Amino acid sequence: MRKIYNISNKFFYEIIEDYKEGNLIIRNEILQSFTASIWSSSNKRRIYKKTINFKVRGDLIHSELGQVFDMWSEVEYTGYKSMTDKTDYISLIRQKINNLYTRFFDSEVILHSEYMNLLNTPKRLYYRWISGEKFSKNYVTVTIDDAINKSIEVKEKYRKQKMSLSWTDYKALIKDLLMKIFQNCILLDDYSNVFTQDMNIDNWNEDNFYIKYVCKYLENELKQYQKKYYGVKQHKIYGRCKECGDMFEKTGRNHIYCNGCKRIKQLEWQKKSMREYRKSLCEVL
Ligand SMILES: [Zn+2]
Repeated sequence: MRKIYNISNKFFYEIIEDYKEGNLIIRNEILQSFTASIWSSSNKRRIYKKTINFKVRGDLIHSELGQVFDMWSEVEYTGYKSMTDKTDYISLIRQKINNLYTRFFDSEVILHSEYMNLLNTPKRLYYRWISGEKFSKNYVTVTIDDAINKSIEVKEKYRKQKMSLSWTDYKALIKDLLMKIFQNCILLDDYSNVFTQDMNIDNWNEDNFYIKYVCKYLENELKQYQKKYYGVKQHKIYGRCKECGDMFEKTGRNHIYCNGCKRIKQLEWQKKSMREYRKSLCEVL
């Protein structure tokens, strides 16, 4: 009896070639073995607490301002493991799969520069202070308080822009996508015949070529998934609703709410103006 196809100890390009050349049974076995390796990879998705920190200089720590800065010498945020030091194709593709989940679905991990800049305010002010700028205690306290309060608002804004999907459902989505990717993958040999007359293809690492291909493909698929999720068509300019964070097709510069929120805003406005109208009537009577 023939042994079930096992991907271990094979190069990635060999697997892709076997898939392309194999019959339906072989293809299923390859895909099963491949997805099983992806999910059992030790390169798990990890998020953890990180801090923006600095140490107030010993000669300044007992001053009034030194005390204020010391209070903010550690600002916490949620980070994630975004890279791997492993170089095998399973770890690398799993890393991409982890990162895409974090980017599109994990509302805990917000690392947008607008948010991070606000969290960096105490540290930035501290370094300006020790390089000679003069600040009052009041100025520093108010500036830091404002920035931290604003950061909570900004975090909420970006949290709302994440889609909701459990890890289990995500795994099912990825399984379907991997099948699509394997099916549509162009073999490097064919690829080089079509496109790369003057490129020196032999110097390419074939596995790297396919790893990049899979990662790029997954990313594009996730972007399309996002458009479908919010019901926006391809190739449109889209905006984010100021209220709920949903993605919508933007029709003009002043278009800031999605249709649902716009309707709610209109009703609120109507109610408010009706109340004011009644109030003005009462005043006349
Ligand atoms: Zn909305």
